[in-house]
Amino acid sequence: MLKPKKRFGQHFLVDARVLVRILAALTIQSDDHVVEIGPGKGALTRYLLPHCRRLDAIEIDRDLVELLKEKFAGQEKLHLHCADVLRFDFASLAEPEKRLKIVGNLPYNISTPLLFHLFKQKYVIADMVFMLQKEVATRLTASPGSKRYGRLSVMAQYHCGIEMLFTVPAQSFRPPPKVTSAVVRLTPHPALPVEVSDYTRFQAVVAAAFSQRRKTLRNALYPLLSAEAIRACGIDPGSRAEELPLSAFAALSRALGPVHPTIA
Ligand code: SAM
Repeated sequence: MLKPKKRFGQHFLVDARVLVRILAALTIQSDDHVVEIGPGKGALTRYLLPHCRRLDAIEIDRDLVELLKEKFAGQEKLHLHCADVLRFDFASLAEPEKRLKIVGNLPYNISTPLLFHLFKQKYVIADMVFMLQKEVATRLTASPGSKRYGRLSVMAQYHCGIEMLFTVPAQSFRPPPKVTSAVVRLTPHPALPVEVSDYTRFQAVVAAAFSQRRKTLRNALYPLLSAEAIRACGIDPGSRAEELPLSAFAALSRALGPVHPTIA
């Protein structure tokens, strides 16, 4: 019997109803190529396998990979990768003209860096259904003016359309986590929703604007942009980052000159 490893954020799903709902949210077609992140002991893997053409599963814990090899011996559709998903090259799996469907009950300690890693590879991704901490799911879907709206909301909404699907109580896992979880769907935009001209500048302006939430844009963006330059974008320099829609950050990024590498 393997003991759950805290350092890998191991909370295993034991509620079949939740597994069925995740499977339904992914809307798999028989020709789909699915990638599961953190299969653990294979609870979700077992539900996914019959429905797709190929399933790649990325698991960092060698003991679990050995267990999965035994459990799924002879299942030719399943390809196990013992690897750190934060370094995983998803593009290497993608076939021409066929985007990946990605799913996982994510290790909460790496969910934000993982999302940024995936955004970089969105060109090979059709959509993603993830179990996350509810708090992170709320930040991903937050609108301007709400308490949870911040850098993660703006960056994620730039790359993807995001839907909050349902929440999952701690009792659905063994061991139960300390927090409530939620399942979200992220679908990379077929065409970018705003024009930023240069992604590095966009990232820099969003990071600077939210670096001190309480500050007005005039102060938070100094010395990147002057109050006049902010006003010229049609934005009040006395406003705060948390009030601005994605289009305003895009406009600010277009007004920004080249970004010094230490800022980017
Ligand atoms: N999918 C399983 C389930 O629902 O029961 C396990 C989910 S558990 C929350 C997260 C899984 O991700 C664990 O199996 C853990 O070992 C794995 N994991 C943690 N960090 C990882 C990483 N950097 N790369 C790949 N897998 C990772």
